[in-house]
Amino acid sequence: MFKDESGRLVNVPSVETLRKAMKERTCKGRNTSDKAQSPLKSLMDQIGETVRGRLADARLSPSEDDARKFILREFARIGKPPSENAIAEAMNLPTIESANQLVEKLHKADILTKEGDEIISAYPFSARATRHRVIFKDGHEVYALCATDAMGIHFMLREDIAVRSRCPECESEMKIELKDGEVISCVPEGVVEFVSSREQCGCTAKTFCPFMNFFCSEAHLEKWQDKNPVYGKGEMYRLHQVLEHGKYIFGDFLK
Ligand SMILES: [Zn+2]
Repeated sequence: MFKDESGRLVNVPSVETLRKAMKERTCKGRNTSDKAQSPLKSLMDQIGETVRGRLADARLSPSEDDARKFILREFARIGKPPSENAIAEAMNLPTIESANQLVEKLHKADILTKEGDEIISAYPFSARATRHRVIFKDGHEVYALCATDAMGIHFMLREDIAVRSRCPECESEMKIELKDGEVISCVPEGVVEFVSSREQCGCTAKTFCPFMNFFCSEAHLEKWQDKNPVYGKGEMYRLHQVLEHGKYIFGDFLK
C-alpha cells in the first residue's frame, strides 16, 4: 500500500508519488547500502518504483505506448524483439526511419536497450541469453532479464508459465511453475532470490539485473556471498515475496 498526495492509502502509487520518489533518489553513483537514502523501503520496492517511475517519466504518447506494448507482446510471442520493419507495419508508420525514431525514444527512456540498431532487451525480456528462461504452454521460450522479471511475465501476460533459472553457485537448474497468480510447484523446494544492493543507478538492465538471481537454497546463496564479497551485500527474498514484486512491477505493464 502507498500513501497518495492526500495521505490516503492506495494500492498503486500515483504518478506524482512516483515522481517524488524518483526526485528523492537523484542517485548518480550512489549505492543503496547508503541507509540514509531510504531506510524503510526494501531494495526491491525501490527498484520497482524506479522501473514504474521510468515509464511515467517517459510521458509516451498513446501511439508510442502502443508501440511499446507491441514490442513486448511480440517479444513474448516469438521469443525475440520484432524487427523495425514489423514495428513500422504494425504501427502504420510511413517509413522504417519513423520506426527507428520511435525505438530510439524508448531506448532513451530506458524502456528498452539497444546495441547499434538492434533491440537487445525490453523489460522484462532479453534477446540475449540470461540465467532465466520463461517457457510458455506451447513450449516456446523467452529469456527474462532477471529473476523478478521472469515471475513478472506471468502477471504481465496473464499466462501460465514455467521459469527455469540456473543457480549462480552450483549452476543447477531450478524450475518454478506459475498458474493463476500462484507458484504451483518449485523444484528444489528451498529456492530464494537474492538482490545485490550494488549499483542501483543508471540503466537497470545493465546495472541491476545480473545481480537479481534465484539460488537453489539459502546455503548456496551464503556460499556464493562468501566468494563474491563485492556483490554479496543485498537482500534475500522468499518466493511469495518475489511473486508480489513481479506483480507490482509488471501487473499493469500491458494495460
Ligand atoms: Zn545451487
